[in-house]
Amino acid sequence: MTDFVERRLSSTLPDSSYIPGLLSRRVDELLPEFITKHLQEGLKIFKKKMPTYYTAEANVVAVESRTSAPVRIPRDKVTYQHVVIKGLYPCAEGAGYAGGIVSAALDGQNVAKRITIKN
Ligand SMILES: Cc1cc2nc3c(=O)[nH]c(=O)nc-3n(C[C@H](O)[C@H](O)[C@H](O)COP(=O)(O)OP(=O)(O)OC[C@H]3O[C@@H](n4cnc5c(N)ncnc54)[C@H](O)[C@@H]3O)c2cc1C
Repeated sequence: MTDFVERRLSSTLPDSSYIPGLLSRRVDELLPEFITKHLQEGLKIFKKKMPTYYTAEANVVAVESRTSAPVRIPRDKVTYQHVVIKGLYPCAEGAGYAGGIVSAALDGQNVAKRITIKN
């Protein structure tokens, strides 16, 4: 965090629970300047108000940039099968029927039920 505010590349990183692991990058260069600037200003205010929160032990992790599928694979409302390809069940996020963990799980559950009923 301190390197982010000082616009430096971190030579080492604190441990992280993020399973794929982290690589050191200049996050200030990945973000648009107006976002970097406001985050840095905010963190400097933290430094004054809560000094222990301003620490090299905190990681600044780059933003989550993926968004839900902008397209939807068509499927029949009753059978949940693709409107043309029988046996194909477009489901959850990539198919355009969910936007998060719970909606993807529920859509998967509904499709699985439909397949079970059919067979
Ligand atoms: C960084 C990040 C953070 C997120 N945070 C949140 C959050 O906090 N809250 C929230 O609600 N949602 C969050 N989401 C969104 C959520 O993870 C997804 O909406 C959800 O996991 C979609 O589930 P899914 O089953 O549709 O797809 P996935 O979970 O992507 O499952 C698709 C599966 O298909 C497999 N697969 C792909 N191609 C093939 C193939 N050819 N053959 C066989 N298998 C294949 C993949 O290996 C994968 O297991 C986040 C997403 C990301 C990327």
